[in-house]
Amino acid sequence: MSFIPYGRQDINQNDIDAVIQVLQSDWLTQGPTIEQFEKKVAEYCGAKYAVAVNSATSALHISCMAAGLGQEDILWTSPNTFVASANCGRYCGADVDFVDIDLRTYNMSVDKLEQKLIHAKNEGRLPKVVIPVHFSGQSCEMDKISMLAKEYSFAVIEDASHAIGGSYRNKKVGSCTFSDMTVFSFHPVKVVTTAEGGMVLTNNTMLYEKLIEFRSHGITRNPGLMTEEMHGPWYYQQISLGYNYRMTDIQAALGCSQLERLDEFVTRRQAIAGKYNRALQCLPLVLPWQHPDTYSAYHLYVICLEEEQLQKSHKQVFEELRQAGIGVNLHYIPVHTQPYYAQFGFQWGDFPVSEYYYSTAISIPMYAAMTEGQQDVVIKTITEILK
Ligand SMILES: *Cc1c(COP(=O)(O)O)cnc(C)c1O
Repeated sequence: MSFIPYGRQDINQNDIDAVIQVLQSDWLTQGPTIEQFEKKVAEYCGAKYAVAVNSATSALHISCMAAGLGQEDILWTSPNTFVASANCGRYCGADVDFVDIDLRTYNMSVDKLEQKLIHAKNEGRLPKVVIPVHFSGQSCEMDKISMLAKEYSFAVIEDASHAIGGSYRNKKVGSCTFSDMTVFSFHPVKVVTTAEGGMVLTNNTMLYEKLIEFRSHGITRNPGLMTEEMHGPWYYQQISLGYNYRMTDIQAALGCSQLERLDEFVTRRQAIAGKYNRALQCLPLVLPWQHPDTYSAYHLYVICLEEEQLQKSHKQVFEELRQAGIGVNLHYIPVHTQPYYAQFGFQWGDFPVSEYYYSTAISIPMYAAMTEGQQDVVIKTITEILK
């Protein structure tokens, strides 16, 4: 029996041809295809600018830098995320803290965010950057977060690694209508892929210029940003400390080609979710609740076990699914419980909703290339194991 993974890429002949075409051209690293890819994503999302980089982790790092995050500052994010959403704050030397999640969406709770802001204001410990994470592809309540951002003056960076192709209030995630910047990941398990890759979108010209600078060593070729006259056509200046976070044209070609099928991928993921919703509704499970303002890109489909109605433990169900060839996974181990974060004083019990969610959640297979037959096997296996 073949193993059904929780997620995987969908590569077709057009994708392969696009990559080969770049390999036969003059540019391998950052060249004309990067610009095309950036333009396509910006247009798709309705944002002014897009900056392609080699991963979402790099995208989060330069976004924090562009927001001016430094050693005296504080970054808040969700505990229910991949460690990269928090680590970007540490790269800048900032303190990292978390806001617990909403029990229905598994996204950062806006009520808890507000309570924590009121408390932080009294203590003089307000965050400079807040990173809401659109968990599983469903947008956070961005209108409320943006209102709080104005009131308490923090920058908002959306970690939309799961959410390209999704919408919030009929606007594409990535439009940056309610944020300063939005980050996408193009890792192969995500909705569209460039193998490794990420992107930052923004509508702010100053942030855009900083992102470009930090992506490539802090070097500028723009005479307007230089401290002296150009010495000649060869001249550039390093005006800050940046990195080499560039994407290659090979990856961008794959990205352009994948983007052609983004809407198709999301429609398929929505259909898979619809079938799971119908087929699993009578089992002792909590199925993914959708906020009416959102249209999810469904990077993940998470089931939460109602353990009190089961004879089996969470771990037992997980192991039985794996043994039956279903490549289940768990998103996420609450970041504050990671040993690296324990050194800052975090411990079990700090964010109880994330921890409770973690004790019940299982990500089941969800990817555009999954066949009806494979989904039927997943449904049948889950039903048998939970019976
Ligand atoms: C995948 C992911 C990242 C990191 O993406 P990379 O492109 O692998 O660096 C960051 N945040 C979230 C929520 C993710 O799922």
